[in-house]
Amino acid sequence: MTSSPASPVAPAPDATNAPDAPASAALLERATRVIPGGVNSPVRAFRAVGGTPRFIASATGPWLTDVDGRRYVDLLCSWGPMILGHAHPDVLAAVTEAAGRGFSFGTPSENEVLLAEEIVRRVEPLEQVRLVSSGTEATMSAVRLARGFTGRSVIVKFAGCYHGHVDALLAAAGSGVATLALPDSAGVPREMTMDTVVVPYNDVEALEAVFTARGSEIAAVITEAAAGNMGVVPPAPGFTEALRRITREHGALLISDEVMTGFRCSPAGWFGLEGPYAAGAPDLFTFGKVMGGGFPAAAFGGSAEIMSRLAPLGPVYQAGTLSGNPVATAAGLATLKGCTDDLYPRLEATARTIADAASAALADEGVPHTVQWAGSMFSMFFRGAPVTNYDEARDQDTAAYGRFFHSMLEQGVHLPPSAFESWFVSGAHDDEAVGQVVAALPAAARAAAHAG
Ligand SMILES: *Cc1c(COP(=O)(O)O)cnc(C)c1O
Repeated sequence: MTSSPASPVAPAPDATNAPDAPASAALLERATRVIPGGVNSPVRAFRAVGGTPRFIASATGPWLTDVDGRRYVDLLCSWGPMILGHAHPDVLAAVTEAAGRGFSFGTPSENEVLLAEEIVRRVEPLEQVRLVSSGTEATMSAVRLARGFTGRSVIVKFAGCYHGHVDALLAAAGSGVATLALPDSAGVPREMTMDTVVVPYNDVEALEAVFTARGSEIAAVITEAAAGNMGVVPPAPGFTEALRRITREHGALLISDEVMTGFRCSPAGWFGLEGPYAAGAPDLFTFGKVMGGGFPAAAFGGSAEIMSRLAPLGPVYQAGTLSGNPVATAAGLATLKGCTDDLYPRLEATARTIADAASAALADEGVPHTVQWAGSMFSMFFRGAPVTNYDEARDQDTAAYGRFFHSMLEQGVHLPPSAFESWFVSGAHDDEAVGQVVAALPAAARAAAHAG
């Protein structure tokens, strides 16, 4: 396991560099004894920015409170799900009510129907969805279904797009894999990615070349609807259309991974912003994050024709003990009910205020940067030129981001602990929270500008 120059791996966190977070440092020390790296998902370990991850004790609205009693404006929003803010009263009530009726039945239950109906109603091309428990499970199942439906093996993905830690898709993935600079993961046998072809994002010519060479073997192209796991890199105008046209010409399916963008970029996700496409809709969609409202719920879906190939109707096996869990589906349903049409312009206005202030502060200090958008999702890339693909995303000053991040953290703003991530806002980010972010930016920009 090596680190590339573009993604320096910071020294392991230790208690000495968190004088203001002694309780977090103490918990981290205990955690590292019983949990690898002290965390249950790698990016949480702060390896990309150095320092001690904050152990959060509670959260409400736009605020996180750590175990040392310090309060942070949350621009992570649990990596997307907390679109209404933390512990939103309506979601809390729905979860409490559902939990009071039992935690898991292992039988069908009404909330599953309601949540599936809500998702199908929002995303026009969907006829059916199956509920699962994580985005990883959703993409894994969608890929299996695409292979089962087409009788073909090859999957095409784009460099820098992350689809969860599915073996076959852990090739040139973004997210935690980008910051850890793993070209691949150990423990994934070559046979598992032998049928995976990786193409640069936003490169139609490269995709056409792959289809010219191997079109009849390709089961599906999977893409992030708008990439968010190498930082926010939206598809170039016409890119999604081209994917649809090329896959259709060759009898391959198009899987749009909306785990991050789904119900986040618009009431109908990225599809709601960019679709419908003249060349036709994607065949399969995957969802997670927002639709679980902070609980483990995710989904994949498409036309009834394709979805009917799933067990028990068809030969493609797929299952889950906790799939459609009554408490998780209650949280998801209540969250989607709160995702009203008027929420999205508010999210965009909040995000715009923060991004504009960050950009102005960085400009004042002469720090090269680029802001990129997908709905209200945005990233600050610490480079002067726009980013259209993974190579360009990696060509940024991640050390400057680390200094910027830590200055913000000290001033009570929790950004994503990696330069390769989207910033997220919620409907609960009010004037006080946004004001605290804006006030912190000049000092953070100064820190970014001056090493050491
Ligand atoms: C987060 C994410 C996943 C994985 O979801 P998990 O719930 O973490 O397994 C897959 N695809 C995209 C686009 C994501 O952002």
